[in-house]
Amino acid sequence: MVPDAVARPTSPAEVAEVMREAAAARTPVTPAGAQTSTTAASITDRGVLLSLAGMSRLVDVDRARRTVRAEAGALLGDVKRAAAAEGMLLAPDPTSEDWSTVGGAVACNASGARSLRYGATRPHVVALSLVTARGETMELRRPGLEKNTAGYAFAQDPVDWFVGSEGTLGVVTEVELGLLPLPGRVTGLAFPFRREADALAFVVAARASRVLRPRCLEFFDERALAIARDAGGDAAWAAGAAALVYAEDCDDAPGADDDPPLDEWLALAERHGAVADDVRVYDDDAAIREARRVRHAVPATMNERGALRRAHGGRKVSTDWAVPYARLAEALAEARSAADRHGVEQAVTYGHAGNGHPHQNFIAHDAAELERIEHVVGETLTAVIALGGTVAAEHGVGKLKRRWLPLQLGPVQLGAMRALKRELDPDGILAPGNVFS
Ligand SMILES: Cc1cc2nc3c(=O)[nH]c(=O)nc-3n(C[C@H](O)[C@H](O)[C@H](O)COP(=O)(O)OP(=O)(O)OC[C@H]3O[C@@H](n4cnc5c(N)ncnc54)[C@H](O)[C@@H]3O)c2cc1C
Repeated sequence: MVPDAVARPTSPAEVAEVMREAAAARTPVTPAGAQTSTTAASITDRGVLLSLAGMSRLVDVDRARRTVRAEAGALLGDVKRAAAAEGMLLAPDPTSEDWSTVGGAVACNASGARSLRYGATRPHVVALSLVTARGETMELRRPGLEKNTAGYAFAQDPVDWFVGSEGTLGVVTEVELGLLPLPGRVTGLAFPFRREADALAFVVAARASRVLRPRCLEFFDERALAIARDAGGDAAWAAGAAALVYAEDCDDAPGADDDPPLDEWLALAERHGAVADDVRVYDDDAAIREARRVRHAVPATMNERGALRRAHGGRKVSTDWAVPYARLAEALAEARSAADRHGVEQAVTYGHAGNGHPHQNFIAHDAAELERIEHVVGETLTAVIALGGTVAAEHGVGKLKRRWLPLQLGPVQLGAMRALKRELDPDGILAPGNVFS
């Protein structure tokens, strides 16, 4: 997809000028950060691509107020490191944090493994500077009220309109994010299981525990585990395992150096049939970084496999659905029987089981298989919604997944979204094709 023009403003005033000109000529404008969206949200073949890459300044880290301000094009990883240098944690942790922007994180409400403890980007957004579709600048700050009965809930805090709006409601030029103290102690633990059902039951039990303090509970099915073993250079590890759960136990108290509750973790794992001899403990930063690298090798490997099929009309198809975490085993059973029904090779399944949010990666070898996989995804999403789930839990819907929205949102909800869009962008020039068709 190639736009008609690219604008690279270096200040909010220049963004406003681009938007005023676009509004006058009714030219579509698609904001873009680092363009890592997996849903085609930041690419377009219509009008202007508005790149925020030239606005990447870190404005300040305020230790007293525990906030960081940065221009929208700053890389999330850089902003996190600046906060960490001051002893504070910027919590959102998408896998792509080193190559994606804070504006993109806000626009997609990005999340990651540790969102189990800290939530997605939304709760960390304190204030936003924006430029509207008409080219007006706007400063929004969360009200900070503890009680409020004035008007409908959705109108009480407009910051929330823009978080997750995928470029369709306004252009974010600057972001103020809340910071937490850096955790005192983090311990990584990997638990292999012979049966996948046991691994998933273990995740549910770990969430229910009053002693354990997981900040992430990540799941690998047998196929994902095989990729992770390769990436870790350790083909023999947990050879008989059909699934793995990676947890990080963490004490958020600054400076905490208490011992992790290892006995409790091991007892729970053994009660759920974990392969006790193959349990691994990662107890320093370097070891935890290595565990994270191995986890990230799964999507990276699947991207490579998908890219190899492009010449044949195939590609990787990645799902992003979630269900209430206790229903994940049911949802995966539905997904797998849909794949069997359509004669599709089972997906590599991994990810945020603690949030009921796996990623399923299929490889379509050619165009015919791609079509069959789309049927599998459609049937899975219908089952997911019946289980109380969502069609998109992390990457937004952009252009590629917007057709699934009506499975989840009824006409009144979609109508309310359209009304807000019309109010803020009456000519529909912002990010056309994202969210709405
Ligand atoms: C390998 C890989 C791993 C990933 N892992 C994760 C993950 O773990 N968790 C996760 O949540 N996502 C993940 N993603 C998806 C993506 O990286 C995130 O959604 C990221 O936050 C997008 O940031 P970006 O700067 O690349 O935004 P872009 O891709 O440039 O834009 C994404 C959307 O945001 C809008 N937008 C961007 N900047 C602005 C702005 N300043 N104002 C208004 N709208 C704007 C765009 O119009 C578009 O709709 C991954 C992607 C890849 C390729």
